[in-house]
Amino acid sequence: MTIPRTDLPPGLGLDTLAVREGLPRTPWGENSEALFLTSSFVHPDAETAARRFANEEEAFVYSRFGNPTVTMMERRLAALEGSSGCIGTGSGMSAILMLVMALLKGGDHIVCSQSVFGSTIRLLQDFAKFGIETSFVSQTDVGQWRAAMRPNTKLLFAESPTNPLTEVCDIAALAEVAHAGGALLAVDNCFCSPALQQPVKLGADLVIHSGTKYLDGQGRVVAGAVCGPAELIDSKFVPVMRSAGMSLSPFNAWVVLKGLETLSVRMQAQSARASTLARWLEAQPAVERVYYPGLASHPQHALAMAQQSGCGGAVVSFVVKGERAGAFATIDATRICSITANLGDTKTTITHPASTSHGRLSEAQRQAAGITQGLIRVAVGLEDIVDIQADLAHGLAGRT
Ligand SMILES: *Cc1c(COP(=O)(O)O)cnc(C)c1O
Repeated sequence: MTIPRTDLPPGLGLDTLAVREGLPRTPWGENSEALFLTSSFVHPDAETAARRFANEEEAFVYSRFGNPTVTMMERRLAALEGSSGCIGTGSGMSAILMLVMALLKGGDHIVCSQSVFGSTIRLLQDFAKFGIETSFVSQTDVGQWRAAMRPNTKLLFAESPTNPLTEVCDIAALAEVAHAGGALLAVDNCFCSPALQQPVKLGADLVIHSGTKYLDGQGRVVAGAVCGPAELIDSKFVPVMRSAGMSLSPFNAWVVLKGLETLSVRMQAQSARASTLARWLEAQPAVERVYYPGLASHPQHALAMAQQSGCGGAVVSFVVKGERAGAFATIDATRICSITANLGDTKTTITHPASTSHGRLSEAQRQAAGITQGLIRVAVGLEDIVDIQADLAHGLAGRT
């Protein structure tokens, strides 16, 4: 027996798969996917149980490493990313933990952008104590990536656009560098989601997700996933999940599964609002600089448009006059925006990266990543954008 697939015609579009891909319905014929809140699964007899534990027969056994609701989410996300496999994890960070545990050993080397998510930098640095060294290089200078390659380099890790400065890397160029050196390229696709960018189509081997962000899309759960070739997921990642247990809970998987159904329309709508906001911010005298891939002023604008389906995404960062005090005053003057470091929510969020998401980095690391004290990040939600503009205008008015 193998776990069956949903009976769907071949060649369906991504919007259809986002709503339909998964597992067959149960005999009860539910239209919305079932939530299987069960830790273990019952076997018809001891002989069958023995076969299933020995991996001689595919079946659900124990929810640490297999649950139908989690499988539905994995199949749906894999379909959207254009990869043959996917494994759900308890958080975005545990997806990265699993990536390193599954693919690397002591003595191996990683090349990573210096502008990736703060916790990612910390986690990769922590692996130095197990003999896995990471070189951090420029997000945008492919030459630096190539120069950092060593005979023992096994993994290149990129994120595009980055948090919070929305720097865009050339995924296809990095895939070439990785493959020329016999390494794999993993891309954290959190900011664009597969609705705007599919790294596998650009040559990446693995895609990392924080399901906490746009995949859920409504700020409800913490979740993560790794997408990649099914053989690699089955041979390298599933055994780590089975022994280490960074499992995605069925409930959180169900929330993400339902979030994927509206991902594409949310990403389009939030990206359009962000674009309007970015252009408005550029015209404000109290704003020194705006970082948004959809603006012609963005250094990688053309690359971003080609790589991200012509969309800038929904995250806009900007520097206000007055350093940290100016940024805090602007944030504190808002009455609609949520002051929180999360992003990817239908509610617009506002944060001061230097003292929150990037607060654990040293000042030198922050400088290298360009996270200045006047920087504010807004992750645009689904409110009327004129209301968000008015909300930001309060604080900016006092800053000229
Ligand atoms: C939030 C985030 C993560 C970590 O995800 P969690 O679900 O919070 O563990 C990783 N990468 C990026 C780009 C993120 O924004």
